[in-house]
Amino acid sequence: MLARFLSSSSFPTLSFISRSVTLDLSGRTTISALTMSMNRKIHAFAGHPLKSKTPKSTDPFSPFLAFESLKTLIPVIPNHPTLSPNFKVLPFSKGRPLVFSTGGDANTTPIWHLGWVTLADCKGLLATCGVDMSEDSLVYLGPKVEEDLVYWAVDLMEEDGVVSELGGRKLCFVELRTLMVAADWTDQRAMDELAIAGHARALLEWHKVSRFCGSCGGTTVPREAGRRKQCSNETCKKRVYPRVDPVVIMLVIDRENDRALLSRQSRYVPRMWSCLAGFIEPGESLEEAVRRETWEETGIEVGEVVYHSSQPWPVGPSSMPCQLMLGFFAFAKTLDINVDKEELEDAQWHSREDVKKALAFAEYRKAQRTAASKIEQICKGVERSQSLSTDFNLESGELAPMFIPGPFAIAHHLISAWVDQGPGDVHSKQQAGLSLSSL
Ligand SMILES: [Zn+2]
Repeated sequence: MLARFLSSSSFPTLSFISRSVTLDLSGRTTISALTMSMNRKIHAFAGHPLKSKTPKSTDPFSPFLAFESLKTLIPVIPNHPTLSPNFKVLPFSKGRPLVFSTGGDANTTPIWHLGWVTLADCKGLLATCGVDMSEDSLVYLGPKVEEDLVYWAVDLMEEDGVVSELGGRKLCFVELRTLMVAADWTDQRAMDELAIAGHARALLEWHKVSRFCGSCGGTTVPREAGRRKQCSNETCKKRVYPRVDPVVIMLVIDRENDRALLSRQSRYVPRMWSCLAGFIEPGESLEEAVRRETWEETGIEVGEVVYHSSQPWPVGPSSMPCQLMLGFFAFAKTLDINVDKEELEDAQWHSREDVKKALAFAEYRKAQRTAASKIEQICKGVERSQSLSTDFNLESGELAPMFIPGPFAIAHHLISAWVDQGPGDVHSKQQAGLSLSSL
């Protein structure tokens, strides 16, 4: 199952999101403190600022009324009257959002921003792709009531390259994974924009892979401003909802010897090690999926399974527009490793000290700045390649034996939470359980 999973761990690490870890009286960090700080500050792609409260259908910011407004406006673009709420659209091409870059002089790192466009510009962009804009071209993302705005996304299908000059800015389409690496994790605005782009990409990719009804084969059409679809066959009318693929990701722990099990896949960059992960199968609980995947891939039997946190992951393959990573600590009952070579390249126990060194070594900030500069170059039209290999620019003078994924990936936080705990802290399920109730 792991083979079809585009893991978080194929990426280099950034750094810790300001880890507001508290100490208990004995001076040890607590699981609950770590978990709480995590869920408030991080995971990348969570905390979408437009999604928290969808307005009721009588509200002008609601999907229903915003869509009705859109329908009346499109025929009169660009001469439509000033709107309230106003609309902004985020164009995508081949799964890549439109962005622009600012800053980036000798002393500062460039910053990427989402390239929101007006309805009129959106119509123009679609026209360059030979598409007449209709209300069904756009997908509702959510409102910012305080700014009198409703946000939409549009898929330009074939459009590519630099969209030269919109509103005096140079814009370009950039891979979401590159934006993820380039996002400054201490900047709430950047993390908000990343979450919006992730949600938009997941919805648009889902629209692309759900064009036909799974029951009768009829074509599906958008409903509720693109938030779901419906079969157009009058005798069927099957409702189709955006797809989410749940994945368990687990740090397997050897309590007795204070070690964690890390694994490598052949497609990882050299020396990268991460958590085990795999898809949940129909008819199994999360705990069963953790135990089964660990057994299948490494031959290790797991007993206690403790939930940690979860992360939306909209940067997988387009056939799976949004995975949901469900993170666990899994406590080993047996220690002998028998690697399934079809699934993994290797799996080994690592001491807390070694994992700590791996975390300390990786130059997460450097990777972020490198990716941010690359986006600036792409927007200027200088950098043509969007190859991911250059995102892994983590090397410094010394070669560390291993490093682990960056703070945009839940694997990073599972591993660093374990490293930061005292040897005694992860033994107590009760203590971990407390952290769940406080989320
Ligand atoms: Zn149908």
